[in-house]
Amino acid sequence: MFRTILALLALLSAIPVEAQQHVNQQRLWGTLEKLSEFGRPEGKGFDAGVTRLGFSEADLAAREYVTGLMRDAGLTVRVDPAGNIFARREGAGPKLPALLFGSHIDSVPNGGNFDGDVGSMGAIEVMRALNDAKVRTRHPLEVVIWTNEEGHHFRKSLFGSTTAAGLMEPEVLKRTDDTGATVADWLRRYGQDPAKLQDARVAKGAYAAYIELHIEQGGILDERQIEIGVVEGIVGIQWRTCRARGFANHAGTTPMPGRRDAFLAAAQAALAVREEVRREGGREVGTVGYVKVEPNAGNIIPGMVEFIVELRDLDASIYERTWTRIEKRFAEIAAAEEVAIHCELVADERPALTTPAIRDTIREAARAAGYTTLDLPSGAGHDAQQVAHFAPIGMIFVPSRDGISHSPREYSAPDAVARGAETLYRTLLLLDARLDKKD
Ligand SMILES: [Zn+2]
Repeated sequence: MFRTILALLALLSAIPVEAQQHVNQQRLWGTLEKLSEFGRPEGKGFDAGVTRLGFSEADLAAREYVTGLMRDAGLTVRVDPAGNIFARREGAGPKLPALLFGSHIDSVPNGGNFDGDVGSMGAIEVMRALNDAKVRTRHPLEVVIWTNEEGHHFRKSLFGSTTAAGLMEPEVLKRTDDTGATVADWLRRYGQDPAKLQDARVAKGAYAAYIELHIEQGGILDERQIEIGVVEGIVGIQWRTCRARGFANHAGTTPMPGRRDAFLAAAQAALAVREEVRREGGREVGTVGYVKVEPNAGNIIPGMVEFIVELRDLDASIYERTWTRIEKRFAEIAAAEEVAIHCELVADERPALTTPAIRDTIREAARAAGYTTLDLPSGAGHDAQQVAHFAPIGMIFVPSRDGISHSPREYSAPDAVARGAETLYRTLLLLDARLDKKD
């Protein structure tokens, strides 16, 4: 008898854990394909990518499709004054805060069908799978689709989540695009009253947690063949605009000694940035990606060069101390080249760390489903970083083929996408059981 039980147990453990997948991979992929039709280049297929800017006709039509899916899943749909879509499934618990999860469906121009879409369609699939399994959670569950995450239109990224975090300045409403339309005009098109924009603010504690499923947009998971990324946080970014001022003079008549060449100083400055970032030896990245040379003529010694130094890391103290060393190097270069170098901090976005307990829960959920995991930072910005102002956050990454994103060539395989949604499903159930316990 005992032997029979042992044999039975051995047999059970031999069944692949992935067979216990709750989400429906085909149904999920079908919604991704359907969503891709909104903003697809004329006469092209799924692999041609998408242009579905926030605040556009394509986005508006896609939102119709998405809210239809939500209603079909029995969810109660609500749109806030920033245009963010919330879809709620009630919980059994007495007045517990909801668990929030979702992403965005807007894209960059000539973008792919995975950035944002995977997290949005994945979230809706989780709701459908919970319905299929007749699961009743203690917490209410809410899917959210944030407005204009990419921010290409009106040059304001993370529009919806920034407004929800109460960090949006009201002046944004007056911003105009090339056609003369304002943000306020578009909010009206989305059925909202722009005067009420600030009412979209979400109070701290209104949600028990926020989980965002997203493609990695980098190549680490794909390269290492890891199925699920547990995001440690969204890196902080510092931008500095620097100006090197030398003296513009005739390139033919000015001898080499005594020249005050602003470009040569800037070129050395760029090399110094790379050296000092590499010296940290961690995951910090530093880039000089913008250079403007004046007068920018082949026969004139450059008199002025403007360049941007960008530093990113999950730990602000690392890029702060790197900058201290870079500044010292710049002073040395300036002295040697007889130019003046001045830098000004123009953007300083702090890192947004995910909540350690949520990270642990995501890792546990993924492993229980039989997936391999890796903890990693997000080098790209996400709505989650703004949600961190009012709720504990966690992020789940799935691999991006060849690390390509913001391109029609962006791709994550159907099974990879389903693994992400399954991890989200399991994470939500674990959090539902563990959070807000009266012990
Ligand atoms: Zn995104």
